[in-house]
Amino acid sequence: MTNILELSNITKTFRGGVVAVDDVSLDISEGEFLTMLGPSGCGKTTTLRMIGGFDYPDSGSILLDGKDITDDPPFRRPVNMMFQDFALFPHMSSAENIGYGLKIAGVSRAEVEERVRGMLDMIELPLMADRMPSQLSIGQRQRIALARALINSPRVLLLDEPMSALDAKLKETMQVELRHIHDRVGITFIMVTHDQTEAMIMSDRIMVMRAGAIEQIGLATELYDRPETAYVAEFLGASNMIPASITRSAAGLIARAGDMEIKVDGAEGNVDDGAVRSLFIRPEKIKLARDAAASDGASTFSGVVKELFFSGNAVRIDLDVGADRPVMVHHQLDTGLNEAGLPGVGATVTCSVRADTVRLFDTAEVAAIEAEEAAA
Ligand code: ATP
Repeated sequence: MTNILELSNITKTFRGGVVAVDDVSLDISEGEFLTMLGPSGCGKTTTLRMIGGFDYPDSGSILLDGKDITDDPPFRRPVNMMFQDFALFPHMSSAENIGYGLKIAGVSRAEVEERVRGMLDMIELPLMADRMPSQLSIGQRQRIALARALINSPRVLLLDEPMSALDAKLKETMQVELRHIHDRVGITFIMVTHDQTEAMIMSDRIMVMRAGAIEQIGLATELYDRPETAYVAEFLGASNMIPASITRSAAGLIARAGDMEIKVDGAEGNVDDGAVRSLFIRPEKIKLARDAAASDGASTFSGVVKELFFSGNAVRIDLDVGADRPVMVHHQLDTGLNEAGLPGVGATVTCSVRADTVRLFDTAEVAAIEAEEAAA
């Protein structure tokens, strides 16, 4: 696929010495939906703003379609930005808001009208042309803002936390809607969010940032299933990180925590016999069954139910396995044990987990991340 954007060794330090973006290099493909994800202050907005020309890097370069745009002002770049608060002109109708950019660019009235109509159809609001922003729902306002940002067919659309003004239900609808609009227009979208679910639902690729640098970039499934670092594992989705001592034998690696002995995939590399590592297991990879049988590469273990948290379609079960912390299990209801058949607090249950779904991370690194999270 052709690269539309190439960021090379971008660094940005603000006054006071804050290194907001630290040597970031990144290629973005034409038509892709890339999301920059990370906690507050990790540098995602600054990276987005440098692509838009609202901030300039101290060093490094930005190429768009092979042309160096590093020092170009925003209006010289074929890049538009949709802001968090949508920034619609309150005294203009939907149609006037959408057509504004074309009008000031001197496009004929007839053409503006035709293109605005096309955009209103595209966002599925054909009857809203004459409504003022105050007469629109928040979801409709967002679509108008999107149409305004897309009407002049930018090469790249930047979206800064586009869902932050929406309530939970509308957010879900708009995440899907925005994804559909992206697919319809075929324009490259780059979004910033701190919401991991949103990133996974909407994007082709996700770039997780930490302290100004890229921690990992890849497909949502890659980051979720095979996080390269403890930081990515902890940031994306729920995870168990259980201190475990590692035994090496001819059969491979075994992680022991309390009464639990878990086989670990050989891909985890060289770990010394007797070393202590954080055992990473996604809660839903633990299969709960009264008599879970060990299939190929799977380990079984037992634990005592400490607490249950019912959430409608699933239940979280915290198991005491005699380790430093409980093991969290996510059990999807209607896929085995249903609600009525769930074990009660104090019951002993058997579980199984496959070696290729678990990973080992550095324990000190995990402790540092958990301390950071607790302080945030
Ligand atoms: P958020 O989600 O809170 O916007 P972010 O990941 O987008 O966070 P940035 O806004 O890019 O992070 O900020 C990165 C760092 O740079 C932070 O420490 C922030 O305080 C600092 N920073 C950002 N803009 C400026 C500025 N104009 N002047 C000084 N420091 C800034």
